[in-house]
Amino acid sequence: MGFKVTVLGSSGGYPGAGRACSGYLFQNAEGNLVVDLGSGALANLLEHVRPDGLGGLALTHMHYDHYVDIYGLCTARRFWEKEVDPLPLLAPPHASEVITSPLQAGSREEFMRSLDLRGVRPGVPQGIAGFDIVALPAAHGAIDSLIYRISRDGKVVCYSGDTDLCAALVEQARGADLFICEATFTSQVRNRMQGHLFAAEAGEAAAEAGVGTLLLTHLWPTLSGDRALEDARSSFDGKVELAAEGMAIEL
Ligand SMILES: [Zn+2]
Repeated sequence: MGFKVTVLGSSGGYPGAGRACSGYLFQNAEGNLVVDLGSGALANLLEHVRPDGLGGLALTHMHYDHYVDIYGLCTARRFWEKEVDPLPLLAPPHASEVITSPLQAGSREEFMRSLDLRGVRPGVPQGIAGFDIVALPAAHGAIDSLIYRISRDGKVVCYSGDTDLCAALVEQARGADLFICEATFTSQVRNRMQGHLFAAEAGEAAAEAGVGTLLLTHLWPTLSGDRALEDARSSFDGKVELAAEGMAIEL
């Protein structure tokens, strides 16, 4: 019962040395779901699951540090030793335009046949790979971005994707057992860019939502993980951890 979450990538913006960009593997007895697959995350995914062993992929938004390893994953599945079904894909609007944009015109249609692209209706639960998943729009500048609430067997994980502080972040994280929240910046940075969070703000959202554990992710590679933890702990009394590739959490 329950499920397991494994960190495939925790770097924000670009993959730091020996690290990968955003990616999370959710595993239950029925299936395997990947949430975000940024640069470098596929190599870590394949340490745990074969390319034909996935039941779904959910992308928060179409920035390369969250989706670009979809090309490698689909290539592996298309040329696998036996035929593999199209991969169910939850993604924000315009995902297919972004996914096909670097491909040659003649191969776009065939590439997209390896995916079963499903629209996301905000606030409406969808089943994928044995999980229930609800998406709400994030506040990530002008780009469509989603905050996911993923549940099974009474256990709940909220994954922020990239976002600024917003009501949807707290709503999606409300009472979650695990809150995987972006903390792109620490107090080493005086002014942050819009559409991302300071680690202390991730802590504030965690406190307001009353989550169990806060897992900080998407830290900019040049910033200090210790500082991120310290900042988040200044605003959240619960358990705070820093995501690292290979870390697994059982729920
Ligand atoms: Zn990002």
